[in-house]
Parts: sequence; structure tokens; C-alpha cells
Amino acid sequence: MADDIPESHPRYRSLLARRLLTEAAADGLLAESALIAHGRGEAFDYLLGERTTASAHRAIGEATARLLAAGSPVLSVNGNTVALAADQMLGCAAVLGCPIEVNIYYRTPERMSALLVRLAERKLAVMRADPPDGWAEGSEAWQAAVLAVPLLGDAADGRIPGLDGPRAACSRDGIMQADVIFVPLEDGDRCEALIAAGKQVLVVDLNPLSRTARAATVTIVDELTRVLEELLPLLLAGAGSPDMEWDNDAILLDALDEIRSGAA
Ligand code: ATP
Ligand code: MG
Repeated sequence: MADDIPESHPRYRSLLARRLLTEAAADGLLAESALIAHGRGEAFDYLLGERTTASAHRAIGEATARLLAAGSPVLSVNGNTVALAADQMLGCAAVLGCPIEVNIYYRTPERMSALLVRLAERKLAVMRADPPDGWAEGSEAWQAAVLAVPLLGDAADGRIPGLDGPRAACSRDGIMQADVIFVPLEDGDRCEALIAAGKQVLVVDLNPLSRTARAATVTIVDELTRVLEELLPLLLAGAGSPDMEWDNDAILLDALDEIRSGAA
């Protein structure tokens, strides 16, 4: 897929992400604005020094604890998340034993089905691959865990209260009934509506100033693929309990300080 990008290239990860996104766009997985959203993320990542900062590590730990403590977690994905990190999201869902819901802002039947088909393909690939380090139950149990991940989103039989039109659509067995939603790259409006519906919303957003970042329960100010490299092992290792005094505004201020000072 990206064999012609040498791993030694100083901008390897960035080039790979751009390649994955342009290919996904050509395959009809993305809305037209998806590449603009990625570009905004890249700009903030540059300012962050393209690293997971100390405050982001703390937020990833908190998100892990909340996902593991959840009664009914769900992972909600959009086109960019599927393009960049379908396998890692499937791995997290397998470990948590929870569904993945395709939930996109610009909903068309064609994109919904293209994303669900892509996820189903990647599910087979993840099943066939070795279990991740830290998975203690052997490869047959891994295959069963991955196979059991429900892929939702086709049936828009639920509604997020407080939103109009297609943006309100969600799945009754997914977002609608979830208590904790991990939704990387969520839109600001929808994040606010999910919070108003009483849900814990865990987001990944490189922009600490965005409406999404400010509205979420836990904001991980970091790049999605770096976050998932850390989240999956943490989910496998288990985590402490959620911090009921979690101060998300303080995390956003820390992220801004880390940008200003260049400190990790
Ligand atoms: P608001 O949240 O203020 O409503 P928005 O959601 O409309 O803003 P967009 O540009 O549509 O803003 O959303 C893209 C957001 O996703 C940006 O804030 C960008 O920083 C972030 N983003 C894009 N790609 C990634 C990525 N790979 N990892 C983490 N964050 C990303
Ligand atoms: Mg946003």
C-alpha cells in the first residue's frame, strides 16, 4: 500500500497518514472536508512537536479507566478513523467486548456501506493476525473476540436528542444505549449533544481549543494513531478506577502550555 514511502523518511508517519487518507477518499470512504480536517490536525500536531505529551498520557490513562469501568461502552468511528486506524479500533473493541458504530456527520448510504464493508474486511485481517502483546488467552480466543465485535451503524434506529436531521441518527444498540463513548474526531455539536444526553464522551482531538475538545468528558490532545498505540496495551494491562474529580479544563490548559513551552 505505502511500500514506496521509506520508513527512514523523517516524515514517514505523516506521509503514510496522507497516503491512507487520499486512498480512502478515492475509495469513497470520506466526506469532501475530511482532508481539510486532517490538515487542521497536522498543524496542531506540528505545534505539539508530534509527540504524546505528559498531559495526553494522563488523559489516555483516564480514558482507559473509564472504558474498562463502563457498563456499556461503544467505539464510534468516522471515515478518517477507519482510514487511519481501523485495525487498532477493532483490537480495542475486541479487548473491551464492545461494538463499533460507524457514525458520520455527512451521512450517505454509499459512504455508510463503504465504511462498514471496509471494517468487515479489516475484521477478518485482524482475526487472522497474531493477538496483540499482552493478550493472555491464546489465538483462538482472540479470533473469537474479534469475530464477536458487532459492527453497527447501518440501522439508524436511534436518535441523539437535541440534534436535527441526519446528524442526529445513531444506532439503538450502540451510541443510544452506551454510557461511555470513545469517539475520536467527533464534531463539536454532536459532542455537546451526547454530553447533554448524560453520556461520558472520550475524544481525541489535536486542537485543544476546538468545541469538541472543550465539551468532552475526557479530551486526549494527541494524534489518533499514537493514542491507539498506547491505549490498546493499557486496556490489556487493566487500569485503576476513573478519577471522579477529573478536570478536563486543566488538561486543555496543560496542552496549551505544552505547545507554548515545547516541554513534554
Ligand atoms: P469544533 O470541534 O470546534 O466544532 P470541528 O470539529 O468542526 O471543530 P474540524 O476541522 O471539522 O473542526 O475537525 C477536525 C478536528 O479533528 C480538528 O480539531 C483536528 O485537530 C482534529 N484531527 C484531525 N485529524 C486528527 C488526528 N489524526 N488525530 C487527532 N485529531 C485529529
Ligand atoms: Mg471538532
